[in-house]
Amino acid sequence: MENFLQLMFWLTGLSICLLLLWMAISSRHEKQPRAVIISLLLLVCTAATWFGFYSLFHDTLILLMAPTALLLLVGLLFFAPLGRRTELRTGDITSRVDERDVMFAREEYEPGTDKYDAYYAMRPQLKAVDDKIRRLPPLLKPGGRFYDADVSEKVTAIFEEIKGLTTRVDGDVASEQASVDPANMTAEIKERLRAGGAAEVGVARLNPMYVYSHVGRGPEPWGEPIVNSHRFAVVFTLEMDYDKVHQAPRLPTVEESAERYLAGARLSIDLADHIRQMGYPARAHISDSNYQIMLPPVAVDAGLGELGRLGYLISPRHGARIRLGAVTTDLPLLSDRPISFGVRDFCERCLKCAVNCPSAAIPGDGPVDVRGAEKWPTNVEQCVRYWRVVGSDCGLCMKVCPYSHPPTFLHNLVRAGISRSAFARTIAVWADDLFYGRKLPVDHI
Ligand code: SF4
Ligand code: SF4
Repeated sequence: MENFLQLMFWLTGLSICLLLLWMAISSRHEKQPRAVIISLLLLVCTAATWFGFYSLFHDTLILLMAPTALLLLVGLLFFAPLGRRTELRTGDITSRVDERDVMFAREEYEPGTDKYDAYYAMRPQLKAVDDKIRRLPPLLKPGGRFYDADVSEKVTAIFEEIKGLTTRVDGDVASEQASVDPANMTAEIKERLRAGGAAEVGVARLNPMYVYSHVGRGPEPWGEPIVNSHRFAVVFTLEMDYDKVHQAPRLPTVEESAERYLAGARLSIDLADHIRQMGYPARAHISDSNYQIMLPPVAVDAGLGELGRLGYLISPRHGARIRLGAVTTDLPLLSDRPISFGVRDFCERCLKCAVNCPSAAIPGDGPVDVRGAEKWPTNVEQCVRYWRVVGSDCGLCMKVCPYSHPPTFLHNLVRAGISRSAFARTIAVWADDLFYGRKLPVDHI
């Protein structure tokens, strides 16, 4: 028995040291120097603790086993289903959003145009704040803090290419309708999107309250009512490159956003074409100017993740480090259910995006009721103002979010814990601050 306990003692110490060494190596791959140093320091402390305990208590087994017992207890609490895990209440959404009010649409209203006059006659309270934003250099143009002519030119070309696709989002439907089995068709569509590069795919019954009420951008006439009565939305995520996101708020992040948007546009246009050829209506919703639906809440309904404090969808595997694409359709499909993995509770403890947002656009308090659903409302004017200051789409909130770590074995282990245990959520917030820092160094902003 004595030998067995001593073996357990040394095996536990060795396992922790190996785990910390693994963390140091994978943190080096992730270009996280602070995490490398902390892992190595903890490794030395663990080794010293184990040798110290052995030299002091090798005759007193009960004391010798104290660190092992403590670790086992922490491990148990980390993965046990402990504490409350509530989701943001989606409730009964009471009204639709007018796309003309979306910040990206408002940025396009140029003084002296009919659109400008019509919009600010309708929303005079927004004129002063929008005019102030318009006076700052536009995105990807000279004057932004991180402006880089080469990258800006490349990104502008990608957005132009996406704009060129906006007329291909819908089209004629084949006159003959194929008979389909909803389960098989859903599986086939998911497989098709995954083969094309989507990370995760889900299907939602389209809530009409998530369809914008009036056209604010894109080739359709501005201000025209939007009619989209499709029954389903097929939504997918595209993972953004970890290294590029880590360069936020510099231009590689906006370059990566643009590339994912283009990939998403191609995928969704291809899928919508395919569905129409089977004789069912389908419309792709693509970035820049062509959404008829609000993607994040529809993605929640499609079981792809939960809404986080930063206002983006948080997916279980890639966190906020994703872009979304969607196709709405009447093709008979099986819908998924929303999922819950502790995001609300984690966000209530974490606040890292709010602490690091340079424009204070992310609220630091609890979620509030917006049109009948709970959310953390981002101050979009403040956010876009900062985009223009730096000349990119910022992305600092996405970069610091603990859910954005790459889906390695170690990070997935933490994800597994925080999806189950309130204890794990508390420890993970604390550990993320310890390993990666609570606040970004000022030269990152
Ligand atoms: S993108 Fe930047 S400015 Fe906007 S909310 Fe995120 S951190 Fe704040
Ligand atoms: S940084 Fe923290 S508070 Fe913000 S969305 Fe991510 S987990 Fe939630």
